[in-house]
Amino acid sequence: MPKFTDSITIKVRAGKGGAGCVSFFREKYIPRGGPDGGDGGRGGDVYIEADYNYYNLSHFFRDRTYRAGDGARGRGQNCHGADGTDLVLKVPPGTSIVDEDGTIIADLLESGDRALVCRGGIGGKGNAFFKSSTHQTPRFAQPGMPGEEKNIILTLKLIAHLGLVGLPNAGKSTLLAAITNARPKIADYPFTTLIPNLGVLPLKNGTSCTIADIPGIIEGAHRGLGLGLSFLQHIERVRAILYLIELTELDPRYNLSLLRAELAAYNPALLKKPYYIVLTKSDLVSHGDMQKRRDALEDPRVIVVSAQNGDNMDGLLDIIETLMEESVASA
Ligand code: GDP
Ligand code: MG
Repeated sequence: MPKFTDSITIKVRAGKGGAGCVSFFREKYIPRGGPDGGDGGRGGDVYIEADYNYYNLSHFFRDRTYRAGDGARGRGQNCHGADGTDLVLKVPPGTSIVDEDGTIIADLLESGDRALVCRGGIGGKGNAFFKSSTHQTPRFAQPGMPGEEKNIILTLKLIAHLGLVGLPNAGKSTLLAAITNARPKIADYPFTTLIPNLGVLPLKNGTSCTIADIPGIIEGAHRGLGLGLSFLQHIERVRAILYLIELTELDPRYNLSLLRAELAAYNPALLKKPYYIVLTKSDLVSHGDMQKRRDALEDPRVIVVSAQNGDNMDGLLDIIETLMEESVASA
């Protein structure tokens, strides 16, 4: 069973500073050389960076603690210890980072955005540092400072341009796989999608449209029943919506009103977004039944497709292009 990856708590720890060194210069015929203990290196920092190659937070489920490298100890002959290696954790764009007491550390919206989450400890000064006119032979050095350590909560809020909304089994994942690079899990039972999947569709104007396959909405989702609520938050930011309804549903109009009611109960503003109704699985019904169900919707914004045999997929792509233009105009 796939895990929910909307939100996860991890522990991050910056590197310890290296200890300073106590050492004295030694060479033949120079019996009492001065102090030459070098400073310890700085501990590595922990950064979190948004990267468009990541679509969810599932890669954090393996480990729960992430550490940057420690600074190396200082050495004799005034050798500075090496700095610890920084740790850069990658997250999908749209991830917010909050610390344990709810303070927002950063909202990483765009690929490349980066936040310093834990600072590495500073290295200790070696004894050479403490030499002065009154203190020629310091026999002490500083220890390195510990690095910062935090429990942080990563939460992914999808930034998708287009949301696929439909009851379980409507064909959302199949459609996403057919028109984008995404390879979501597809199966003929409800709730195959526990994780919202994102796919990218290149547009003719050179930009691209990110499409989110929103897991099945069920009646009462807005009240926190079933899987719905945590996912509904993901479509809040979409620019347009495709309602997917199976042609095998006898009453597509009821189906549509159900989907709309769920969205409205969560946030009525969602109904104002540009939309299109996609009747799916046209290969499964006769032409007559298709016409009947299409007419029953009494809405000019309907397209009939089959992701299975490719029926009308080009038409759908044109519609997506138009929706994206519309939503830019209305934004
Ligand atoms: P989701 O729950 O909305 O994501 O639906 P899925 O994409 O997982 O599809 C549910 C089932 O319908 C799967 O068994 C798919 O193979 C099937 N399916 C999806 N699209 C089509 C289609 O165009 N034609 C046919 N015949 N089956 C389809
Ligand atoms: Mg699915």
